[in-house]
Amino acid sequence: MNFLRPTLLTLACLLTLPIAANDLPSLGDASSALISPQQEHQLGRAWLSLVRGQVSQLSDPQLKDFVESSVYRISETSELQDRRLEFVLLDSPQINAFAAPGGIIGVNGGLFLYAQTEAEYASVMAHELAHLSQRHFARGLEAQQRMQIPMMAGMLAGIVAAAAGAGDLGIAAIASTQAAALQEQRRFSRQNEQEADRIGLVNLEKAGYDPRAMPSMFERLMRQYRYDRLPPEFLLTHPVSESRIADTRNRAEQYQGGGASDSLRYQLMRARVQVIYEETPGLAAKRFRAMLTENPKLDAARYGLAIAQIKRSQHQQARETLQPLLSKAPNDIAYNLAQIESDLAANRLPEAQSRVERLLELYPKNYPVNQARVDLLMKQGRIQDAERALDQLLKRRDRDPDIWYLVAEVRGLSGNTVGLHQARAEFFALVGDYDEAIEQLDFAKRRISNNFQLASRIDARQRELIEEQRLIQQMMR
Ligand SMILES: [Zn+2]
Repeated sequence: MNFLRPTLLTLACLLTLPIAANDLPSLGDASSALISPQQEHQLGRAWLSLVRGQVSQLSDPQLKDFVESSVYRISETSELQDRRLEFVLLDSPQINAFAAPGGIIGVNGGLFLYAQTEAEYASVMAHELAHLSQRHFARGLEAQQRMQIPMMAGMLAGIVAAAAGAGDLGIAAIASTQAAALQEQRRFSRQNEQEADRIGLVNLEKAGYDPRAMPSMFERLMRQYRYDRLPPEFLLTHPVSESRIADTRNRAEQYQGGGASDSLRYQLMRARVQVIYEETPGLAAKRFRAMLTENPKLDAARYGLAIAQIKRSQHQQARETLQPLLSKAPNDIAYNLAQIESDLAANRLPEAQSRVERLLELYPKNYPVNQARVDLLMKQGRIQDAERALDQLLKRRDRDPDIWYLVAEVRGLSGNTVGLHQARAEFFALVGDYDEAIEQLDFAKRRISNNFQLASRIDARQRELIEEQRLIQQMMR
């Protein structure tokens, strides 16, 4: 993670330069530079592609699916009007989460390490959704009277820096990049944080969680780092004060209670993250085993042990570890997918196939299940079938670079050269490399002999990408 930071900071500086130099780039007449909600949406997505190109991500389908579905569910009872959300799951063990204009939600893997229950995790996400629903980004710039594209670029740069490990929960880092331009920002930021806590808490309760999880998480973070000379940057830029805790505690206590505090599903996902950030799978196995000795009923620890064993290629042990879980919950997605992963790695393909087929009948639209199907088909050498399965997956995840990456690979193997270059173009655009994306479409066009329709479709897509690139260059000017 650390090696990425210089690049990130460079990018951040690049983006903030015009503002720091107090010399706002001219974008023609000033009114044309005002940001409309549609532009905010576009810029948010353009910015997301820059982040994806700069910060390494976790491409675990189950974790991605959990974050997406949980946040969508929380957003249903939020004040957010525009619920076209996009997600990025960053590969960092530091605690962080952020929201960016245009409906971008970012989460570090580390949030799962720090949030001990699903309600604690949800309290952070509800807080982030509140920043979005209250349009704190636009409102933070009210001192400037109107939101301009370079302003937004500056703010987004702050979030890139935040994504690297600092940050809010975002806003504080943004404040620092804007300090010269916005004297009022500190006060604004504290107000925004209070408001996000307050509105997030209401949302948390409406979404069916125990609202007391929010002050609990704050309290634990504060206790944990009270005497620490070097707390995580998250806490430096986003201080958890006694009064903030007291305030949320008081508000939370006003609710009847009865909300959910945790779920097995969350603990299973948390175990996956713990395996990722443990020094070695061996150490992870040791830790989960110790937890099981203390409490043999801890299903999440048993699951974590199985995942660690699969990582160590101990497939027989993994099967034995998973067996009691699968007999207790034969339809559980996570347990079955773990067994499939182990079977694929151990080349037990017929067994993997029957399990995949059963899961598909139960959960035909589930992303991780469909991903397992593609993995199986690839392993079986059924490339054409894998290509078709991926096309199905693309219908629901056409902005997921992980999927486009795989699509390119599979189309290459199946000899679909035009499709390969198209897929590469989509992948590169999603990770912010527009030059490469546009060039890939040139390659695709050269490969087409006499399919006029396809050629004009590719032309049209190329023009869209050129326009998106122009937008980004405008942001970075
Ligand atoms: Zn915040």
